[in-house]
Amino acid sequence: MPGGVSSPVRAFKSVGGQPIVFDRVKGPYAWDVDGNRYIDYVGSWGPAICGHAHPEVITSLQETLEKGTSFGAPCELENKLAKMVIEAVPSVEMVRFVNSGTEACMAVLRLMRAFTGRDKVIKFEGCYHGHADMFLVKAGSGVATLGLPDSPGVPRSTTQNTLTAPYNDLEAVKELFAENPDAISGVILEPVVGNAGFITPEPGFLEGLRELTKEHGALLVFDEVMTGFRISYGGAQARFGVTPDLTTLGKVIGGGLPVGAYGGRAEIMSMVAPAGPMYQAGTLSGNPLAMTAGIKTLELLQQEGTYEKLEATTKKLIEGILQSAKEAGFPITGSSISAMFGFYLCEGPVRNFEEAKATNTELFGKLHRSMLERGIYLAPSAFEAGFTSMAHSEDDIDTTIKAFQESFADISKIL
Ligand SMILES: *Cc1c(COP(=O)(O)O)cnc(C)c1O
Repeated sequence: MPGGVSSPVRAFKSVGGQPIVFDRVKGPYAWDVDGNRYIDYVGSWGPAICGHAHPEVITSLQETLEKGTSFGAPCELENKLAKMVIEAVPSVEMVRFVNSGTEACMAVLRLMRAFTGRDKVIKFEGCYHGHADMFLVKAGSGVATLGLPDSPGVPRSTTQNTLTAPYNDLEAVKELFAENPDAISGVILEPVVGNAGFITPEPGFLEGLRELTKEHGALLVFDEVMTGFRISYGGAQARFGVTPDLTTLGKVIGGGLPVGAYGGRAEIMSMVAPAGPMYQAGTLSGNPLAMTAGIKTLELLQQEGTYEKLEATTKKLIEGILQSAKEAGFPITGSSISAMFGFYLCEGPVRNFEEAKATNTELFGKLHRSMLERGIYLAPSAFEAGFTSMAHSEDDIDTTIKAFQESFADISKIL
């Protein structure tokens, strides 16, 4: 396996040391093959918002398993999950299930072009929309983590249709629209960026994009693969009150099984085959196991007080992290929204990827190793957001903050 892994960031290349090989996960914890326990702030990169292997999710999965793993035909469960997604996410009137976030973003891009008859798309530096050719331009996540140039193997004829702007920069988007009249199908973004660290939209940014796209007959697409059902039950679009034309989902809606989805206005989604001419298909799409994990996870999230608890837990954590860095004399800036957080080891503010690059990645590597030794599993990259879950207790957070204090203090001694 290239790099010994099935997905690049897992290899620990940017933080040094060897990747931890997991044996099992439960609640907020992961155990490695040597039996060491870690408090996990990666949560399988987002899906584990109710905690790993939640008993109710496992029980539902076992029940569904008995009926078979894949039908390749319509099933009741996909209808149920579709209804839940449509009810929850303001922009979604119709939805199509796929098997990953990458697949959802690939399909939504085709749909943007099909609906508008235009080929170009605007994305933002440091935003990640999966690994489809057209998105591998100034991408976030593993591409940013490993400091890779735009990927070889992607035809120039493809990426010349991908225009990029700095995040939070409305003027740059305005200029792109002015330079490419009637050629831009739409704007796609992470409404809160989790693949370049953690960057929040400045007041007016999302609203401004909504107006600009409308004005130019282009579509606004929120890639909520990470933020959907995490920033709030209705995603970032519900939290910020800005409704895009189309939305992509993944991670949480699969509850730990491979699921992605794209949806939006019925008028646009009606273009998708077989309702319309835009082709997109999938052998395992909407399979009963994946739908079951998604349905049960969303049901758990509907419980009263879920998002208040997630918000409070995460706020306490980030405040503790910021405080412990400051006590040890390290520059730091960071924040949290709902169950997502992030920090940069630099002065800040960080409003875009260029500013994010000021973070001290060497120091982050030291911090990461020190935290691992103390039983805390952080994302092995300075450019990935952190995730909390319903299973993280006050005690877990206190233990984590104490580990940050000790780690920062230790590192300041050796420097
Ligand atoms: C994770 C992610 C993707 C890709 O999803 P996969 O399931 O890894 O293919 C796309 N967009 C965003 C915002 C993501 O966080």
